[in-house]
Amino acid sequence: MAKSSVEKMGNRVRPIGKKLLQAVAAVLFPPICCGCGRRIDRIGTVCPQCWGKIQFLTGPYCPVMGVPFRFDVGDGFLCGEALREPPPFDCARAAVLHKGLAQLMVSRLKYSRRLELVPIMGQWLLRAGRDLLAECDYIVPLPLHRRRFRQRGYNQSAELARYLAAKTGKIFAPHILLRKKYTVPQVGLSAAERVKNMRGVFAVEKAARPQLLGKIVVLVDDVYTTGATVKAAARILRRAGTARINVLTFSRVVKEMEF
Ligand SMILES: [Zn+2]
Repeated sequence: MAKSSVEKMGNRVRPIGKKLLQAVAAVLFPPICCGCGRRIDRIGTVCPQCWGKIQFLTGPYCPVMGVPFRFDVGDGFLCGEALREPPPFDCARAAVLHKGLAQLMVSRLKYSRRLELVPIMGQWLLRAGRDLLAECDYIVPLPLHRRRFRQRGYNQSAELARYLAAKTGKIFAPHILLRKKYTVPQVGLSAAERVKNMRGVFAVEKAARPQLLGKIVVLVDDVYTTGATVKAAARILRRAGTARINVLTFSRVVKEMEF
């Protein structure tokens, strides 16, 4: 009897307790815009002003490189880079242009441990990569070298990839690709230096090789700059027999639009 009355009491109390907790949490930790810090009504989003400044890459774009075109130039029209030097991956997509708030989000996630940004960045990635994620077998994050992982404590690309896997039910595969060589940060290096810096950096885990044969992989990274890093990783995955390698990044650097 005592138990059932406690249960009844619990049933009565629980919703009130939950509401109270939510009210207290809203006062102590009000949802704020990750762009400007303004109060907003929902956690995990940005305010309308900041939203307006984000440039989503919804198309038109080059079907291979994913670089945005200003005009719809027709199906199958490729950008200059895709024609000049076809990449070792099948296609690349990004959610947003690497500018302003998007750039800030990438750097906060990477250098300031702002892991609460993962769900919002992840949602935008989910939308941009819907088709690629639907057809893939594995979601593989760009790995960090052990030493860098120890310094940072987490891999921002793996956190994004983990979110995508949880939302799509696809396999999160952070151990397929290894980063064997410790490299200096790519910031400030020329395109040629970046390619050289990336030589011999990645390897496929030996035990994972049979699993990759004929499979489709989505390679996840935070930002696509010159593509030197994802291209190096894609070459290694291709050599291991991966059938399709599609690159999905949160943001993308675009120097100037071709069309
Ligand atoms: Zn804002």
